[in-house]
Amino acid sequence: MPDSLTRINSDRLYAALDQLGQIGRYQDEETGLQGVCRLALSAEDGEGRRLVVGWMKELGLEVRVDRIGNVYARRAGRRADLKPVMLGSHIDSVPTAGRFDGCLGVLGALEIVRSLNEHKIETLRPVEVAFFTDEEGCRFGTDMLGSAVACGRLSLDYAYELKDRDGLRLRDELEKIGFLGDCDEHVTPPHAFLECHVEQGPMLIQKGVEVGVVSGVQSISWQALTIVGKSGHAGATPMDLRADAGVAASMINLKLREMIATGHYGEMRATMGAMTPHPGLVNIVPGKVEATVDLRNPSNELMQRSETDLLAFYEEVQKREKVEIRWRQTARTPAVPFSSRLQERIVAAAERAGLSHQSIIAGAGHDAQEFAAICPAAMVFCPGEYDGISHNPREFSTPKQCSDGINVLLEVLLQLANQEDL
Ligand SMILES: [Zn+2]
Repeated sequence: MPDSLTRINSDRLYAALDQLGQIGRYQDEETGLQGVCRLALSAEDGEGRRLVVGWMKELGLEVRVDRIGNVYARRAGRRADLKPVMLGSHIDSVPTAGRFDGCLGVLGALEIVRSLNEHKIETLRPVEVAFFTDEEGCRFGTDMLGSAVACGRLSLDYAYELKDRDGLRLRDELEKIGFLGDCDEHVTPPHAFLECHVEQGPMLIQKGVEVGVVSGVQSISWQALTIVGKSGHAGATPMDLRADAGVAASMINLKLREMIATGHYGEMRATMGAMTPHPGLVNIVPGKVEATVDLRNPSNELMQRSETDLLAFYEEVQKREKVEIRWRQTARTPAVPFSSRLQERIVAAAERAGLSHQSIIAGAGHDAQEFAAICPAAMVFCPGEYDGISHNPREFSTPKQCSDGINVLLEVLLQLANQEDL
């Protein structure tokens, strides 16, 4: 077997990213740049999917579509009875995206297959390239939807009934764009799952590191808060008789910062991203505030501790500010560690290629975390310019930044696809 293949064709990968990025393009007023809007199951998503499926077929891959619209493309191995090594990500986007988020993982995987074909390299195991439905969750409200259904965390019925803002049902939208497949939505656990993705953060670029070895995905907890106080005249209501919902919200927001400063919650991140006072007027004490809390933590235990302590603080605020705090959990996912053996292989591959690397926790959710529940899974991060900004038309990784990550993936894939056991 030829073993000379150590690099993919970087220009060809970049051209493919460009071409897919033309579908759903729009002129972004804020940045003056061309952005991408390819919302899940929109007409643009359908067009993007058809482009990528066309490329899969050109490469001689056997394409199948499952009942949630996930697309799998298989390159045969010498042993059809062995489970495939799967490479995948997503090609749907947020409304204000760049060209790289998700697409790099899918098109990078296809470039790997193209390079294998070109060098006539066979593998023992089959190799599959996949893209998953509605990873972003922007349109139907549930992220990692397709991979979560494939790996069994969410049911097909739950997914089918999801509706977008206009009341359009997910199943109907799948059918409309021609991607309501008939393959079983439960994926057979692959031998291993690998995903390459842009970092979407500043750590790698700030340290000048070329490859991020993702240790896992942090736990996420979302709360929606309704704080009810008493509305009153700003001039006529004495300070000691107030129940100011706005002050209560601010106390909680500042408490989050104080909690982080104590160091008792590890690498916790906390954000009060929405805070809407009612009636929201200059001379009225806010009688109600609607707010959100977003907590992230790589440790499940420390996440639990922060939630417990925060709820205790709500009690305190209720007494101190004479308000009522109602809260409900709107999302909760556990921290998912990635396979340490796969991480070791990624490190070794980066070192052999002379690339600097660093262990990094994923700040956002990814399809690979769903696969971590059913098989060994791992991720490689590529740095992005402009502090790794993402979900924005300024999202930008250079051809080298992209191909470094994909080359590491190529080497790990070749090892895994040629082994009988992990
Ligand atoms: Zn993504």
